[in-house]
Amino acid sequence: MTTSIPLGRSDRVLLFAPHPDDETLAAAGLFQQALESGAEARVIYTTSGGNNPWMQRLYERRWRVSSAEDKARYAALRRNEALGALACMGLTADCAMFLDYPDQGMTHTLLNDPEPAVNLLSEELLRRKPTIVAVPSCFDLHPDHSALAVLVRLAMVRASCEWKPRLVLHYIDHGTHKTPAGINDVQIALTMEQQNVKREALARHETQLALRRRWLLSFAAPTETFIINEEARSSCEGHAIRRVSVDGGCLVLEMAQRARPGAFGRTMLCLVSGGGGRQALRFNMPVRWRKKTVPIAQFPEGRVVGEAILSGNVHGGSARIPLDILQTGTVLFAKLERRFGFFDEAGWIEIPHP
Ligand SMILES: [Zn+2]
Repeated sequence: MTTSIPLGRSDRVLLFAPHPDDETLAAAGLFQQALESGAEARVIYTTSGGNNPWMQRLYERRWRVSSAEDKARYAALRRNEALGALACMGLTADCAMFLDYPDQGMTHTLLNDPEPAVNLLSEELLRRKPTIVAVPSCFDLHPDHSALAVLVRLAMVRASCEWKPRLVLHYIDHGTHKTPAGINDVQIALTMEQQNVKREALARHETQLALRRRWLLSFAAPTETFIINEEARSSCEGHAIRRVSVDGGCLVLEMAQRARPGAFGRTMLCLVSGGGGRQALRFNMPVRWRKKTVPIAQFPEGRVVGEAILSGNVHGGSARIPLDILQTGTVLFAKLERRFGFFDEAGWIEIPHP
């Protein structure tokens, strides 16, 4: 079913993009519709996409691309491409902001040192006071995307006493364009003209065309898909963390594991608990089903703060986590992280804070 996002002159659309190209893939149609209705539109890029050696080797036709200068050169190219794509959609360079966090490092930032990023993002939200925020979905399989989803959520909670958007749109760029089962999404319809502009804007991302031209151009479709106001849920059939409950002083997470070529090997269960006005707490624990109990380590220094009780086998099971390690807060996220593979098994999921 297609719908339209009501947009007017008083609207300010702010999109958070983990990499140059995500703005076009996810929302070239939305941007055009916003500008046509007289609304303002902006993009904040958290990384400049400089760390993609295979794509860079193909584009630059050189084998050695590992130095800091190589990455900086590639990042500069990608920033320029993003500005070219925005120009196709009618956005000027001053609508874009590049924060230059390390490409493929957003999960590391989230788990090890989220506070400066959460502060910066919440300051930008309060400076711009967007009426519509577009942000990656925490279900996106690219770890930079899902980690940014969590960071923006923490920033929005921090900013919420002074400002609230009227709409939050979540987009999935990785995951075969699919929303997990049980999650409602909406499609906005693009005119032929808007699809043509989107195709033209996608083609500006030349560095990306060498290896994934078909995939990239497949986004120039008649619709764009968004999840509206993604919220905490205690069950999600399509996710690796299927069900969450509270029992006898423990948070109980039921998991179903399914390794894929993009995500396999040893598994860690990660938790982020925040929103209580203090810095978010971050934990992880190994999911080793042969052990009855495993240590829960707190980031960044790895201090053991408790034990989780596991019960299950290689296909899944449950983890019981003592509630007293979580501070009083408002948002809680969980994710299974695999040791190998570029992508995630299922991204993060926001679960109700007990
Ligand atoms: Zn991306």
